[in-house]
Amino acid sequence: MPRLGVYIHWPFCRSKCPYCDFFSRVKKDVDQAAIVDGYLADLEYYRGLNDGYTVDSVFFGGGTPSLLEPKQIARILDKIAALWPLSEQPEISLEANPNTDRPGLFADLRAAGINRLSLGVQALNDADLRFLGRTHGVKEALASVDSVLKNFDNHSLDLIYARPGQTPAAWERELRQAAALGMKHLSLYQLTIEEGTVFALKNVPAMEEEAAAALYRLSEELTSAAGYRQYEISNYAAPGSECRHNLGYWQGDDYVGVGNGAVGRLHCGKKLFSTTHPRQLEEVTPRERAEELTIMGLRLNEGIDKTRFAALSGLTWEDFADRGQLAALKDEGLVEETPQNVRVTPVGRLLLNYVIEQICL
Ligand code: SF4
Repeated sequence: MPRLGVYIHWPFCRSKCPYCDFFSRVKKDVDQAAIVDGYLADLEYYRGLNDGYTVDSVFFGGGTPSLLEPKQIARILDKIAALWPLSEQPEISLEANPNTDRPGLFADLRAAGINRLSLGVQALNDADLRFLGRTHGVKEALASVDSVLKNFDNHSLDLIYARPGQTPAAWERELRQAAALGMKHLSLYQLTIEEGTVFALKNVPAMEEEAAAALYRLSEELTSAAGYRQYEISNYAAPGSECRHNLGYWQGDDYVGVGNGAVGRLHCGKKLFSTTHPRQLEEVTPRERAEELTIMGLRLNEGIDKTRFAALSGLTWEDFADRGQLAALKDEGLVEETPQNVRVTPVGRLLLNYVIEQICL
């Protein structure tokens, strides 16, 4: 049976971070049970569209899903297990912020069924945490890392780099410290200034491209020296600890998305549909599918498997990609291609948006 990911979006946060353009709401005292009732009904609806899947991963993202009570998480996981067959060892991830005033939260999340914890540390110095609008400090972050390591075998830590004024030496110190913590996975995101955010309104400058590229290359070197393997443009894992749920997105697996900010990709018969909240379905054309597989697949170091690309989109890679543009990208050393596979080179990773535009437009 084809594998399926399930994404649960919990949109609420304690405060709005000034760089954040995700769908999130600052709201206390929401009626969690009532909202989760709606999620359970949506899960049933999506299950009714296709009964041919096995659930291999569940991902609680946000927003701040660590604000969702463990008993509500358990209700959602019980429902998923009642609706779909599960693979032998499904990956069940949750994103958490380090500041929790709930003692024993990580142990309770583990007991509720979460088996992979992704911790949004973002920086390992207090001044930058304040600049990023985070409501935790380094001390709290490190205490949370300890608790995550005690309660989970599978874990990830997020950091944001290319903060204004951040030097290579400062980033190296932080990244070395993060890599020494023993987390199995690191997600390293470049700070970008997105329209509509507080940083954009305040004209906070994005780091100059060359300087940010130098920090990116440093990230690749330091993570590799620490035993992590880069498998996606922003993601590094100890061998075997890649995030299966996110790999599903990048490789073109189907997934259910539940919650206000969630999207999904589901087959009904032979047709693929894009789903958005609340239960809106729109058919995905072969051309749209091919573009999506290109945008997602080129993020991966392994690139795009052309046989899989053709099976999922109905178009061969040769028919889809502009041969002239592709030849130029190969001449520039940005893309490598074999009869079976196409991928971006390490230099191409620094210009990924340009590479994708050239291939898709
Ligand atoms: S906690 Fe995450 S989702 Fe919430 S505002 Fe901050 S960055 Fe955005």
